[in-house]
Amino acid sequence: MINLFGMTKKELTEAAVSLGEKPFRGAQLFEWLYDKRAEDIDAMTNLSKAFREKLKTSYAIDRGEVVLTQRDPVDGTRKFLIRFADGECVESVLMRYEHGLSLCVSSQVGCAMGCAFCASTRGGLIRDLTAGEMLSQIALAEKAVGERVASVVVMGIGEPLMNMDHLFTFLRLAGEGWGIGMRHFTVSTCGLVPEIDRLAEENLQINLAVSLHSPFQETRETLMPVARRYPLEELLKSCKNYFTKTGRRITFEYALMAGVNDRPEDIERLSALFKGRGAHINLINLNPVAESSLKHSENVNFFCHALKKRGIHCTMRRTIGQNIDAACGQLRQKQLARSSSNHQNIESKPMSLESEKS
Ligand code: SF4
Repeated sequence: MINLFGMTKKELTEAAVSLGEKPFRGAQLFEWLYDKRAEDIDAMTNLSKAFREKLKTSYAIDRGEVVLTQRDPVDGTRKFLIRFADGECVESVLMRYEHGLSLCVSSQVGCAMGCAFCASTRGGLIRDLTAGEMLSQIALAEKAVGERVASVVVMGIGEPLMNMDHLFTFLRLAGEGWGIGMRHFTVSTCGLVPEIDRLAEENLQINLAVSLHSPFQETRETLMPVARRYPLEELLKSCKNYFTKTGRRITFEYALMAGVNDRPEDIERLSALFKGRGAHINLINLNPVAESSLKHSENVNFFCHALKKRGIHCTMRRTIGQNIDAACGQLRQKQLARSSSNHQNIESKPMSLESEKS
């Protein structure tokens, strides 16, 4: 069966025409799938029964399934483990903010980028997600809570700019079809310079978040292998170009790690690099992952205060989901371990773990 979910209007039109229908049926399918969130071909009641029957012989709507949900009992953050048709799983995280629900979506199964502090890269890259699989994460989160998602950060498992064509299709489907404005999207990158330049050319009006994690080239290289290919100086030039071309401010993500990037010299260097540039630094306290010696910092408040005193725009990301596997990729890693050890030796949290399917 061919999956309708994730098809563009052009592809849906071609599918309709191939079944002997008029081209406008493509636009109707598009509206049912995305704007009206139809999960079943039979729900598309303004299509003739004959067309629906023809469709069902070759097409289906497959949005994947939530196989596990963790819910933080304190702040209500939910982490979903989502499985697609080929059995591969990714995570998405649903957080509630004043402005509404925000969903962090994954863009790849695994990740090739090898950042030292990240659980998502442990097994390498398995495959890219399709546009439909990225959109599915929004569909499944909305269904789970019965509310619409207001904003999306593409900051889950994977490096989105390594999967750009599917990312662009996803953004267009989510914007034009699902109804989430481009300014409500943030795409993160570990610092792929040519791809940031391409994103600037596309001028989609999305927000960009760049993982900085250190103002020193040598430290960045030890934390993020990508820094060897694209040095800090080149990265900052590319970020400036993005801002000039799109007018969208860039957020620099900075996960504080004890003794690595939370020292006085880091504060001074950040101030020297960013003062007067209108940049925004988002401090995150590291969610430590197993098998890594990197620890979270006790200096977050001091660090933020010191940067502000030096005229740097700086915020601290709200710490959420602390009572579930908060670091990106941890839940998937546990699930993989569980599969390979036949459900043995896996720590479970019965208070916060809701298994929705077996
Ligand atoms: S932090 Fe992002 S880019 Fe780096 S390994 Fe993890 S998922 Fe990949």
